[in-house]
Amino acid sequence: MFVDIAKIHVKAGDGGDGAVAFHREKYVAAGGPDGGDGGRGGNVVFQADTNISTLADFRHKRKYVAKKGENGRGNRQNGKKAEDLIVKVPLGTLIKDAESGRIIADISSKEPVVVAKGGKGGWGNPHFATPVRQVPRFAKPGLPGEEFDITLELKLLADVGLVGFPNVGKSTLVSVVSEAKPEIANYHFTTITPVLGVVSMGEGSSFVMADIPGLIEGAWKGIGLGHQFLRHVERCRMLVHIVDISGSEGRDPYEDFKIINEELEKFNPELSKRPMIVAGNKCDLCTDEQIAEYKKYIEDMGYDFFPIMAAIRYDVDPLLKKIQEMLSKLPPIERYEPEPAPAVKAEDFDDHSVVIKKIDGIYTVEAKWLYNVMRSINFDDYESLNYFQNTLMKNGVFDALRDAGINEGDTVSLYDVEFDFVE
Ligand code: GDP
Ligand code: MG
Repeated sequence: MFVDIAKIHVKAGDGGDGAVAFHREKYVAAGGPDGGDGGRGGNVVFQADTNISTLADFRHKRKYVAKKGENGRGNRQNGKKAEDLIVKVPLGTLIKDAESGRIIADISSKEPVVVAKGGKGGWGNPHFATPVRQVPRFAKPGLPGEEFDITLELKLLADVGLVGFPNVGKSTLVSVVSEAKPEIANYHFTTITPVLGVVSMGEGSSFVMADIPGLIEGAWKGIGLGHQFLRHVERCRMLVHIVDISGSEGRDPYEDFKIINEELEKFNPELSKRPMIVAGNKCDLCTDEQIAEYKKYIEDMGYDFFPIMAAIRYDVDPLLKKIQEMLSKLPPIERYEPEPAPAVKAEDFDDHSVVIKKIDGIYTVEAKWLYNVMRSINFDDYESLNYFQNTLMKNGVFDALRDAGINEGDTVSLYDVEFDFVE
C-alpha cells in the first residue's frame, strides 16, 4: 500500500544535568567546586533520502526520541552532547505541526532540517561560586528537549504531472519516455503508487514526469483512489492531461476531459490554473475524423493538443518538445516556506503555578508554563526582556519569591536564565 501521510511524535533529548562536585586531591584540604556542565540533548533532524519513496515506515514506528545529553562529572568534565536522531523521509515530505497545521519544514532538498531542538545542558556548580558562596551545592538540571506531534505529508517533486482517468495510458507514456517502469495493465488502478520518470531531452537537459494514479469522479471527496494522489499534482509545474480519445472502454472522451478538470478544481482551485496541455492517446483505435474533431474541441478551449499512440511511442516527441519548451518558461517547483511558531504567552495557560526551591542561597523557579513562554522570548532584545519582567510580575512569580524569603541581591535561577533579585 502506498502511504503518503503519517502522524508521529518527536521528542528531542533533554540536556544533561550539571554536576555538584569539589576538587579533591591528596594533601589539599578543601578544593573548589569543579562539577562539569551537562551536555546538550540530541536534536530530531529530518533529512531526505531518495531511496525512500513512501511514508510506510512511519505507520509502524510512531515515536522518534533523541537521546539525553550526558551529565557533567567531577573534575570539570563536561557531559557529551547527545547525537542527533536523523529521521530519513522521501524527498518532498512536508512536516507540519499536528495541532495547528503550521508548516515546520519542507524536506525538498538534501539539506537536513532540525525539527525538534535538544535541551541545553545544565551548568555545573562552579558557575554558582561567588566570593560569599565558595562552596556552591547547586547545579542546574538539563532543560527538556522539545516535544510535539507532527504530520508528515508527501508531496512529490515533479516538473510534469500526468492526469487522466484510469487506463488512458499514463503509465505507458512514462514507461516509453523514461527509465521508470510503472505497472501497465488493461484494468483500472494498476498504478497505486505515483512513479517518477526522468525524461532526457539531450544535451544534459531533462525533466521529471510523474505518473499520478487514475483520478475518478468524486476523487476530491475521497471516492476511489484519486483523492489521495491529487496532493502529488499540487507541486507539478505543469500538467499533461491524457485522454483515451478512442473511447475504447465505452467512455466518452469529451465528458472525461471535463470531469477530470472539475476534480482538479474542486480539490484545489490553484490546480485549474496550472498550465496544461492535452495528449489524445490510443489514436491507433481512432479514425482521422475522430482525432480531428477532438483536436478542435480541445483547441477551442485554449489548450494545445497532441495526438499520440503511447504504446508504440508514436508522435510522442512533439509532446515532449512542447513540455520542455513550456518548462523553460515556468517558475521552479514550489517549495513551502516554514511558518514561524506563534509566540507562547502566559495567557495561553490556565495554570500559572510556580514551585520555588532554595538551595544554597539560590532560588530556583520551576513552572512549566513559564518555561514554554521563555522559549519564545529573545533575551537579547530590550522589549522582550521588559515583557518577560512583566510576565513574572503579573503572574505571581515575584510574589512567590518574596514568600519564599528572597532578599535583595539573591540569585534567581530560572531555567537558562539567572538574575539577581532587585526590589
Ligand atoms: P493508466 O491507467 O492511465 O496508467 O493506463 P496504462 O498505461 O496502464 O494503459 C492502460 C491500457 O491501455 C494498457 O493495456 C495499455 O497497453 C493500453 N494502451 C496504452 N497506450 C495505448 C495506445 O497508444 N494504443 C492502444 N490501443 N492501447 C494503449
Ligand atoms: Mg497507470
